[in-house]
Amino acid sequence: MARYIFVTGGVVSSLGKGLSSASLAYLLKSRGYKVKIRKLDPYLNIDPGTMNPFQHGEVFVTEDGAETDLDLGHYERFTDTNSSILDNITTGKIYSKILDKERSGKYLGNTVQVIPHVTNEIKNFIKNKTSGFDFIICEIGGTVGDIESLPFLEAIRQFSNDIGKKNSLFIHLTLVPYIKSSDEIKTKPTQHSVKELRSLGIQPDIIICRSELPLPKDQRKKISLFCNVDIDNVIETVDVKTIYEAPISFFKEKLDKQVLKYFKIKSKKLPNLKPWFKISNTVLKSKNEVNISVIGKYVDFKDAYKSIDEALVHGGVANNVRVRLNKIDSEKLGLSQIKDKLSNTSGILIPGGFGKRGTEGKIESIKFARIQKIPFFGICFGMQLSLIEFARNILKIQNAGSTEINKKCTPIIGLIEEWYKDGILKKGDLKKIGGTMRLGKYECNLLEKSLIQTIYKSSRISERHRHRYEVNVNFRKKFEKKGLIFSGMSNNNKLTETIELNSHPWFIGVQFHPEFKSRPLNPHPLFASFIKAAKNKTLND
Ligand code: GLN
Repeated sequence: MARYIFVTGGVVSSLGKGLSSASLAYLLKSRGYKVKIRKLDPYLNIDPGTMNPFQHGEVFVTEDGAETDLDLGHYERFTDTNSSILDNITTGKIYSKILDKERSGKYLGNTVQVIPHVTNEIKNFIKNKTSGFDFIICEIGGTVGDIESLPFLEAIRQFSNDIGKKNSLFIHLTLVPYIKSSDEIKTKPTQHSVKELRSLGIQPDIIICRSELPLPKDQRKKISLFCNVDIDNVIETVDVKTIYEAPISFFKEKLDKQVLKYFKIKSKKLPNLKPWFKISNTVLKSKNEVNISVIGKYVDFKDAYKSIDEALVHGGVANNVRVRLNKIDSEKLGLSQIKDKLSNTSGILIPGGFGKRGTEGKIESIKFARIQKIPFFGICFGMQLSLIEFARNILKIQNAGSTEINKKCTPIIGLIEEWYKDGILKKGDLKKIGGTMRLGKYECNLLEKSLIQTIYKSSRISERHRHRYEVNVNFRKKFEKKGLIFSGMSNNNKLTETIELNSHPWFIGVQFHPEFKSRPLNPHPLFASFIKAAKNKTLND
């Protein structure tokens, strides 16, 4: 039977529960165990697909097309294992299921209540399809004390009771602040947070203390005493310089060892930390550096392009260079500033995006990259805009655009049903915005000897998607005449998946999101190749 590890957070949010869970998962996996991580999000949205990235960061997409919390990205990257739609649940999903059941009379006349109906659904989710795993790590979103989290905390309390303490472990992550004026490290917020947790019937077994400074023995003793936790189970996590040091730091603090000790499991082997040392060294110490400009609408929010930022760093690791990210707000990018802002860049990346705002700045930047022969990587919306730029400036279609932005444009990009009238390829109901895009993994066939085919070293690939609009293939011949190559097509040959320019050192657009599949220990070939091209440009400049 699988052992369950529940990770809760206290005092404040954003302490790094996701990263702690992912690091623990790596350490256990590297010791030879099968580990699954799940995220329980207390908000009322069905999934984060409809949420603004400014509020909730990036929407991470799984192979099976679930739009999930970005923490699932951490899990996949750290454990090099795919997540699925079953690994992220929200209050919205739970209630939607319950209300559907209620309307179809499944509760047989009973009053539907938080306990037991909501808590039972949560418990069913936690244990759904977990056979074959040694450990299931369940991270509870939010902070203990939030009203929304209560049913989840009640459910994990019951779950632990159901399977017994010897099969379940509670980890609580809290903040241990350093007060500069008195030069003291304070344990009181942790004590209060644990008290709150205990009032809900949960006694943590391990406390992870996030702090700016190393935790002195006295403070550890205090936390151990007041919070009723073995002193060896008071684990410190001091701010790391790069997230890739996190598995090393948790190993040093013996987090994985204490988990195994709790479950009375004799470890098969020690975890392999070498790759993390190598990555951290490159990220922190490499003498070579490339400057990559990422131009998007949400650059002011740190987590809005999380997987892209990570994949670029992975690409750097593959080439032994540090990647300096130059994030440019497309809405504030005046056309006159483009030359100034982009002249010193070694590569330009336009990520996925939605809607009109900031598109003209992006299109002008693409033109700059194309003419100045700066390596260019267009992802999803980035690819769509690169075709619009080419159509306007090379094909001389002045009004070229996307019907997402302008209904009256000449549609280089549009909804597939705008030109395939047979309806075979119709997307979901447009009145329903959530979950109706082309989502998840789809195959794509790459043109022999194209740049992208040599990068993947394969003619058939599979990548994750999240888009509603498509390239209008009726313009294909016009593009091809002027040297733009449709290098990747869907299996039915109707959907454009990748494009490239033959007159440019590295100009690639992809309709999918390769960033979701890049891993620190296994960088994505497109990102590795893009950074290589950027590195070559830096060396030649
Ligand atoms: N807005 C575009 C579409 O829906 C691109 C989406 C994206 O970049 N993820 O097709």
